[in-house]
Amino acid sequence: FLSAVTVYNINIVVIESAFDIMKLLVLVLLATAVLAKHEIYQGWKSYYLGPSTTVQLSTLATLFDQYEVDVLSHPVLQREGVVLVKPEFQGPFTKALDTVGINYRVHADDVKKALDIDDENIAKKKQQSRTRNNGAQLPYDNYQELDVIYEYLRNVAAKYPDTVTLVQPASTFEGRPMYYLKISTTNFEDESKPVIFIDGGIHAREWISPPSVTWAIHKLVEDVTEPDLLERFDWILLPVVNPDGYSFTFSHSRFWRKTRSTDQHSLSYLCPGVDGNRNYDFAWNTVGTSNNPCTDIFAGGSPFSEVETRVVRDILQEYLHRTALYLTMHSYGSMILYPWGHDGSLSHNAFGLHTVGVAMAEVIDSKSLPN
Ligand SMILES: [Zn+2]
Repeated sequence: FLSAVTVYNINIVVIESAFDIMKLLVLVLLATAVLAKHEIYQGWKSYYLGPSTTVQLSTLATLFDQYEVDVLSHPVLQREGVVLVKPEFQGPFTKALDTVGINYRVHADDVKKALDIDDENIAKKKQQSRTRNNGAQLPYDNYQELDVIYEYLRNVAAKYPDTVTLVQPASTFEGRPMYYLKISTTNFEDESKPVIFIDGGIHAREWISPPSVTWAIHKLVEDVTEPDLLERFDWILLPVVNPDGYSFTFSHSRFWRKTRSTDQHSLSYLCPGVDGNRNYDFAWNTVGTSNNPCTDIFAGGSPFSEVETRVVRDILQEYLHRTALYLTMHSYGSMILYPWGHDGSLSHNAFGLHTVGVAMAEVIDSKSLPN
């Protein structure tokens, strides 16, 4: 902060009026805001991790706890993951990896700098896409901020009123609207049609999740190559479950994961937010969760404490009798997960889920870019 103030003070020699002082203040404030962004990641590094045995995988779980490692993408055997490590733990963490023989390499040597560069690229791309598309289409060469996604949802609903309905079920903790689209050739009135529900963005920092949902919208109504998908099914598409958190990843902290509620714990004012994906009622607060609001996996004060998860619950309840498929998009790793996550047992329809999952994985794999 100090350096920004200093630069402007020494460069501006003559201040002629109160108006100029105002301008100067605005400049200083802007410069401060820019410099402050990503400041908390000063000195952080990210690493690729490539465990090669199941023993190493379980050792990693312990090391993650011990060194407060933030897992961006979970490693599995034969596929590297990516983790963030604070400056004070980089030495001991890599030493521990060496000791147990887990392969690793640096992903970003200077996380703050990498984020600053990302920001510059996003700003540049934003300008280009605006010129190219004139705001009518959602660009897929860049991550979009919440208002752009929302404008797109409103546009699609206005442009295709016969099939698309925009629903605003609630507002978030911080008062942002939540939106989802219902897409149907029969206005959701044909009870014999199965419903497919896809949501994204419950974890704020998983930026590739919302565009995977908006892309489904695009393929259902704007660029239809498989019309039977819309003929045979009714669709519910909720691209951003956690708008407060998503906005916060753009404005403040790139790696924010939770909601932004401050009413769940006496410490919530210091450590806001609940992990939405730990806030559902099934086996609530049992495995892979925490009672500590300062962790990224805080389950909340009670199941469905968050309005954002209540919206998902209510959609599922409303259409449960004819829901054929519910998908929730994350980017925690190249995985397709199906229940049960809390104890690893198989659900009654596990065989069907596994078969569908393998088919999905094969299609994704066939489209994936070479390394
Ligand atoms: Zn996630």
